[in-house]
Amino acid sequence: MSRPSIVGPEVPVEPFPFELQGEVVRGFGRGSKELGIPTANLPEEAVNSICSELETGVYYGWAQVLNKEVRPMVMSLGWNPYYKNEKRSAEIHIIHNFESDFYGSELKVVVTGYIRPEKDYDSLDALVEDIRTDIEVAKNSLNRPGYEEIKHLPFFA
Ligand code: ADP
Ligand code: MG
Repeated sequence: MSRPSIVGPEVPVEPFPFELQGEVVRGFGRGSKELGIPTANLPEEAVNSICSELETGVYYGWAQVLNKEVRPMVMSLGWNPYYKNEKRSAEIHIIHNFESDFYGSELKVVVTGYIRPEKDYDSLDALVEDIRTDIEVAKNSLNRPGYEEIKHLPFFA
């Protein structure tokens, strides 16, 4: 199925840009890293702040580890199985090859837009293919002046 290569308006629109931050915690060990798509998890308190604002699904924006470079990211916002799906979880894949893991490090995220709803997949391949597409969509969508300028928010300084 073909998907648009760019999504969202020319500039972020309410409730975006949406700021999130916290120390990276261990996730569910679903093997994201083995798929080549590690996803950093934020603590419960950080995720609660988006609860009322955003529906579940896949989002794009910017992320920064330890006040270093600001990089593109895709975020999956879903229901947290640990809490019988009463709480949400935010899993953030930063579009960069890191030398090592950064559990425990401060992660700042600005969510700038929505890509698509969550989906159930028949196969792992189909899931990975969709995430690969999300990554391209995120890069293209962030490559616009209205999104580039978010990188320079005081939040990331
Ligand atoms: P977990 O189940 O603990 O979230 P993952 O397999 O999803 O395990 O790996 C996530 C961890 O990988 C992150 O917490 C982070 O320390 C590390 N990591 C390395 N590269 C990235 C990246 N590009 N994006 C997100 N996390 C990354
Ligand atoms: Mg993960």
